[in-house]
Amino acid sequence: MLAVTSSSCGSSSLWQDTGDDAGAFCARHVGPDAHDVAAMLRVVGADTLDTLMAQTVPGSIRLDGAMGLGAGVPEHVALARLRGMASENRVLTSLIGQGYYDTILPGVIQRNVLENPAWYTAYTPYQPEISQGRLEALLNFQTLVIELTGLDVANASLLDEGTAAAEAMAMARRVAKSKASAFFVDAACHPQTIAVIRTRAEPLGWQVVVGDPATDLDAQAVFGAVFQYPGSTGELRDPRAWIEKLHAAGAIAALCADPLALMLLQSPGALGADIAVGSMQRYGMPMGAGGPHAAYMAVRDAFRRNIPGRIVGVSIDARGKPAYRLALQTREQHIRREKATSNICTAQALPAIVSSMYALYHGPVGLKAIATRIHKLTTILAAGLRALGAEVVTQAFFDTITVNTGVQTDAVIGRALDAGMNLRRVDAAHVGISLDETTTPDTVRAIWAAVSGDAARVAQVEAGLSAAGSTIPEGLVRTGELLAQPIFSACQSETDMLRYMRRLADRDLALDRSMIPLGSCTMKLNATAEMLPITWPEFCNIHPFAPADQVRGYARLFTDLERMLCQISGYAAVSLQPNSGAQGEFAGLMAIRGYHRARGDMGRDVCLIPASAHGTNPASAQMAGMKVVVVACDSNGNVDIEDLKARIAKHADALAAIMITYPSTHGVFEENVREICELVHAAGGQVYVDGANLNAQVGLAQPGVYGGDVSHFNLHKTFCIPHGGGGPGMGPIGVGAHLAPYLPGAPQDGGANAISAAPFGSADVLPISWMYMVMMGDAGLKRATEVAILNSNYIATRLAAHYPVLYQGANGRVAHECIIDLRPLKDETGVTVDDIAKRLVDHGFHAPTVSFPVAGTFMIEPTESESRAELDRFCDAMIAIRKEISAVAAGELTIEESPLRHAPHTVRDLTDPDWARAYDRASACLPGAVHPASKYWSPVNRLDNAYGDRNLICSCPDMSTYEA
Ligand SMILES: *Cc1c(COP(=O)(O)O)cnc(C)c1O
Repeated sequence: MLAVTSSSCGSSSLWQDTGDDAGAFCARHVGPDAHDVAAMLRVVGADTLDTLMAQTVPGSIRLDGAMGLGAGVPEHVALARLRGMASENRVLTSLIGQGYYDTILPGVIQRNVLENPAWYTAYTPYQPEISQGRLEALLNFQTLVIELTGLDVANASLLDEGTAAAEAMAMARRVAKSKASAFFVDAACHPQTIAVIRTRAEPLGWQVVVGDPATDLDAQAVFGAVFQYPGSTGELRDPRAWIEKLHAAGAIAALCADPLALMLLQSPGALGADIAVGSMQRYGMPMGAGGPHAAYMAVRDAFRRNIPGRIVGVSIDARGKPAYRLALQTREQHIRREKATSNICTAQALPAIVSSMYALYHGPVGLKAIATRIHKLTTILAAGLRALGAEVVTQAFFDTITVNTGVQTDAVIGRALDAGMNLRRVDAAHVGISLDETTTPDTVRAIWAAVSGDAARVAQVEAGLSAAGSTIPEGLVRTGELLAQPIFSACQSETDMLRYMRRLADRDLALDRSMIPLGSCTMKLNATAEMLPITWPEFCNIHPFAPADQVRGYARLFTDLERMLCQISGYAAVSLQPNSGAQGEFAGLMAIRGYHRARGDMGRDVCLIPASAHGTNPASAQMAGMKVVVVACDSNGNVDIEDLKARIAKHADALAAIMITYPSTHGVFEENVREICELVHAAGGQVYVDGANLNAQVGLAQPGVYGGDVSHFNLHKTFCIPHGGGGPGMGPIGVGAHLAPYLPGAPQDGGANAISAAPFGSADVLPISWMYMVMMGDAGLKRATEVAILNSNYIATRLAAHYPVLYQGANGRVAHECIIDLRPLKDETGVTVDDIAKRLVDHGFHAPTVSFPVAGTFMIEPTESESRAELDRFCDAMIAIRKEISAVAAGELTIEESPLRHAPHTVRDLTDPDWARAYDRASACLPGAVHPASKYWSPVNRLDNAYGDRNLICSCPDMSTYEA
């Protein structure tokens, strides 16, 4: 039996059973074994997987032959290879700063959050009842940000500091009274931040003015400005006067602020800023060669409805008890499609949770002590350097100083390297030095020696130093209480910390408990072997701008990944820079824009998007300066070819691109995708294929071959990076050779089209996808696709007798996901999609995707990782729910009286002394085959969203305020 399974995953017969089986990992990644596959094929009515694929994937796009990745390897072999690469990275003491600092991730947080599948395999908390743990942690994050920034509302994370600053610019344009079209950027912003802002401003026609705010800020000429606080090379300036000037002109002021410095500095809110952004990286998340880290954004209350990203809020449940949920969800930008001003979808939930736990771990006293210690070490560093005769240019600083090297920068950096340290090369005459939580007195001594070149004098100079005072100007010293909310002082001991994290994790449903059949999200196995490398020091303790000769291992990893993504997709080149699918969309559209413009095609700005597209598509097109023209879909859910032809004819000369999702968001392989691509190409347009559904194609079809010019790959969907409860993700893009010149450049060098703050996005999670591809190999990857399609067809077949399946392909097959239509049931009985979604919780399941892409439907995507038993458990639950709907239809009880409307049921229901429902508690709490010993209890009853939106609370409440 094992042999059958393995060979379908790709082992060769010669070496079978010799212990180095190419299919070993694949057989663990893919849920159903060969016998299950055979049985499931009988249910769906296909002889073999090949037959099913032939019925599902159009012959015109089928890949014949292998992709070229070779055979898969077992877990330990892949890990050993990766170890080899990791050992080619050299971990030096990083003093580079520039937005990335070494930090100490407490072991209890590393093991119990970052490395804990209960946290990292969770989905974005759209279903609040099963997400109370991560929602509470994210509310702590928002409270932390609000406290640090002195502003009123914070979101639950953005992608990185550079994009957060660009989001601040876009928000400023939206809310500013000023009608000016320029945005001012402090020259003291990090270079990568300036590069990302330039990329985002260009297609929207906003001019970016970079300069010294003290001399170059013309407030009348701008709609807003961003200042770095403290500046990139360390100088701490008081921005009050600049902010006042902006406000007088009706412009918006944003501060890019270091959250650790903010423990000691006046808050952006107190200084008058409207917006604060920055990176929470140094709150415990390793540098990871660029990420993942949580960026933050906080705004004044007046702008709460304009802040991009997700906000966690407090509401009540059906029993009036406090409960968390995402606030003002309809305000989420990408839902507004072409009216959106931001495309942020996947953000950085897991890194945000880690940062919030770091703040809880240290508490306000501990955080202040860390910041104070770093500042003190920096003052000692500066005093010693001056005593050694060096010119320290920076006068007021927190943790970073700039030193005049007298055009000896190379020599100074060379001596630092010899001592195992990286300094920042500012220019030929200056180096930058940033200290951090890990800095010791020995580090300071080593810097003295390296900068002065006079090691012999260091001890003598040290002996003569007296304690230096703070260099923070009096007007910028923070006063008042910080982080006084009880939660930040609740975890004094590791025991407390451990139990708090466990308590929150236990409230949530993640992949470690049950299938999460979310259509379009591809919640597949995140194998432990894939996850192990992310905390290897050689990957996570690397600065994103470390010298190339220290990151040879990373370079090999990137090259390998790019090659494998090209082999899988059929594209010619890949950029690993975008930090999410939506960022990939924007990067890809910018490449298309660059291509047209380079050819003198300045007027091509129309982007065709089918009505069924994900909201990020039109949002990204808008950000890339394109006009969105919607193409209709026909009754089968396919792009309406006649409508497409008409739109192309109408916009022929202005056609920039079409964005299609393949297989479509309706879960169908359109037969005429080649024709669609050809029509657009013939009119001079480019084809963007949204790669979110690549899990239905790997090994079977290649977007780069059937007509795509560019695609993004959601590594957090198809390629096993876990969702983290709403991020991190990675959205690299693949392009045809003609678009390769327009891929994102290196942000730290001001490269064109920079999309993220770091050149390889969230590099630290790339080993996850590398491990997956290498362990699966050609045959394993193809097998995964085939079984993903089989699993989806199996569910469609089993449910078809109970719920109508909305769209099917030419042969009656669905792709890797299927939509079931719940609207007829609603018309008949009043049951809503929410009723069914919440009743699934009683059965221990996370709901499928609700009302996307069609309102009133479920989109179900099981992925290849779910076993037949789990699929059956889900189908049985859906069928049991259907019976409850039938009881309503038969008039046995009303929908209001039914368990559907009261779901999910909680321990409060079980112990309610006044139980007077039309159904019994056992069927409410233990429906179907739910075993009492493995019952998942939703910690709250159904959320009241309207209440929460009317009474907006987005930070840790004072318990008494809502218990009353
Ligand atoms: C998930 C998804 C996206 C957006 O990806 P993010 O990584 O969340 O930004 C875009 N299109 C489709 C079809 C998706 O499913």
